[in-house]
Formats: sequence, C-alpha cells, structure tokens
Amino acid sequence: MTPDKDYAVPDIDTAVLDVVIVGGGPAGLTAGIYASRGRLSTVILERNMAGGQIALTELVENYPGFPEGISGFDLSEKMKSQAVRFGAELREVEAVTSLRREPDGLYSVVTDQGTLLTRSVILAPGVEAKRSGIPGEAEFIGRGVSWCATCDGPLYRGRTVAVVGGGDSAVEEGMFLAKFAEKVYLVHRRNELRAAPIAQERCFASPKFEFVWDCIPLRIDGDQAVEALEVENVKTKEVRRLPVNGVFMYIGQLPNTSWLKGIVDLDDQGYIVTDGHLQTKLPGVFACGDAHANPIKQIAMAVGEGALAAVQAQRYLDALACALPGAATAAGGTAAAPA
Ligand SMILES: Cc1cc2nc3c(=O)[nH]c(=O)nc-3n(C[C@H](O)[C@H](O)[C@H](O)COP(=O)(O)OP(=O)(O)OC[C@H]3O[C@@H](n4cnc5c(N)ncnc54)[C@H](O)[C@@H]3O)c2cc1C
Repeated sequence: MTPDKDYAVPDIDTAVLDVVIVGGGPAGLTAGIYASRGRLSTVILERNMAGGQIALTELVENYPGFPEGISGFDLSEKMKSQAVRFGAELREVEAVTSLRREPDGLYSVVTDQGTLLTRSVILAPGVEAKRSGIPGEAEFIGRGVSWCATCDGPLYRGRTVAVVGGGDSAVEEGMFLAKFAEKVYLVHRRNELRAAPIAQERCFASPKFEFVWDCIPLRIDGDQAVEALEVENVKTKEVRRLPVNGVFMYIGQLPNTSWLKGIVDLDDQGYIVTDGHLQTKLPGVFACGDAHANPIKQIAMAVGEGALAAVQAQRYLDALACALPGAATAAGGTAAAPA
C-alpha cells in the first residue's frame, strides 16, 4: 500500500514531526490511522515487523466486523495498509531506546538508528510473553521451546507437545497445536481454566488434550531437542515427567517498558500510568494499548485507546498552536512547544 495522495500530508516537516508513535501493533497502527488522517505528520516506529501480537495469532474471532473471524496476520496487514494509506510513515525494524524532553518542550525519540524530533509522542509498545526461568527454557529456544504456536505449530505434526498456562492464550494456542500434534498436555497450576467459556468448551471436547491440573513446570530436558517436561503437583509435590517434543509457554506477559523507567510513571508491574485522557506525566506524551495500565488486554481495547491517544495528541497540538501562534505545521501546530 502506498500513501493516498488525497490524504498524505503535503510537504511533511521531517525536521520536527507532529507525532511519533512507538510500536506498530493494533494500538500504534490505529493511532497512526487517526493521526495521519487528521493530517498530522506521523512516524510509526516498530522494532520488528508491524502487527504486534496479533500478527502471530491464527484466528481472531471477537474483533467486530469479521463474523467468520479473521487471521491475525490479515487483520494486522489491513491496519498497516490503512495507516500507510493516510500518510503515516511506518519504519519497521527500528527500536526506540529512549525518550527525552528538550528545554524547548520538543521530544527527542532516540532509536537504534538515530533521533527524531517531535512535538508529541504516543507510546504503544505492548507486551511480550513472560519467561518461566526454569532450567532448559533458554537452552531449548528454537529446539522445542516456543511462545508462538502459529509460527511453530506445523513443526509438531504427529508429535506431542505441552502447553503451559490456563488463560485464553494457552487454550486458543493449544487448540491450534491440536490441529497438528497427536497429543497436547495442558499444564495448569490450578484445577480450572481462566480462558473464555467458549474456548474451554472446545478444548474439553477435543480428544487430543490431556489436562495436567495443579502442576507447575520444573525443568525441560533433552539432548539435541526437547524430550520431556518435568512438572510438579503444587498440592501433593509429586513430580511427573511428560514425554514431549515441544513446550509452549503462556504464563503471563511483561510490558515492553523497561526503557521508560524514570521517564514516565509505571505501576508496580511496569504498565504505563496515564490520566483519564491517556496522557502520561509528560505533556504531549500519551500511552495506549496493552502496555497501558488498562483493565483489558484485547484488540478492541487497544484500537479504542489508539484512536483516543491520537485525538488527544491532536488536541494537544491545537492547544500549542493557540498558545504560540507562529510557524504553522501540518497540524496547525507551532515550531516548538513551550517548556
Ligand atoms: C496468542 C495470542 C492470542 C490473542 N488472541 C486475541 C484475540 O483473539 N482477540 C483479541 O482481542 N486479542 C487477542 N490477543 C491480545 C491482542 O493481541 C493484544 O491485546 C493486542 O495485540 C495489543 O495491541 P498493542 O498494539 O497494544 O500491543 P502489541 O500487539 O504488543 O504491539 C506492540 C508493538 O510494539 C513493538 N515495540 C515494543 N517495544 C518497542 C520499542 N522500544 N520500539 C519500537 N517498537 C516496539 C512490538 O514489537 C509490537 O509490535 C492475543 C494475544 C496473544 C499473545
């Protein structure tokens, strides 16, 4: 998709941007759609390929507009095209490492490839899978340990895998693995799942699942590749060795915010704290999506917050323009923000 000339910001000021968006998942791409369609000069920075977590999800069934469901990859490609069509510049494989407020009120967004100067910033860095830290986990990454069933599931055709976790991700990804694997152990530290009832019904009905209740993973063993997962029953302390070729961990998430420590407020789990208008403690710096301390980690929430963050950024820029009438920008903003 190339920018649509009816929408693209004419003569985009690349010396000082209106908004820089950190993260190209659903939240960041939606913010990009709204900001660029609002004629703000917009750059989206994504450390990998854009799409975020959904790009690795086989099927999304609960996002409105797709009654039959849509593959996560297709949905993220559509969001990406839409942002680019309206003129947002999407820079993939460029990671943001720091953010600095300059004395004139502008922001320097430092990446592994340079520094961008901007009047406002939208933080949408999302989350990543939590590591269990058990012996063998790091050693067997790519040789049987994975966090992405969609990426690696087909490698386990006719084999046996263990899925660790009891939430939506564990159950949905386990169902996907069951398409290929002969057997799926679902290891959960409680004796009931947390996943949505519809997902639970499906996996309880599958003959390929064996549920290993009240158990936590202890160690992953193997020679060249994974051969077994040892689990411990939290009630009886009994240790059991599951003969598996693959281990897929879905035990929680960590926000991608370590680089923001001391720059914006984070809660005790590392999620970004904002006011009700999604603004962080820094004026003109907004946060949205899974990395924001919000109650639901879902696409609908992420895109809603992405839209709101972009509208708030636009309002912030409009207020700056009123406060300091001067050189006009694409946003109607001014050349510099007050310190
Ligand atoms: C297996 C799985 C299945 C799911 N299924 C569903 C479902 O069916 N329905 C649903 O509603 N939700 C589902 N979700 C949740 C959904 O994917 C998330 O809520 C959504 O992706 C959050 O979007 P986001 O943009 O906030 O964050 P993310 O999708 O995490 O995107 C953040 C992006 O920011 C990038 N980034 C991070 N740090 C930096 C940096 N420093 N510099 C540059 N880029 C950076 C990351 O690479 C990433 O691409 C699922 C999640 C998983 C893991």
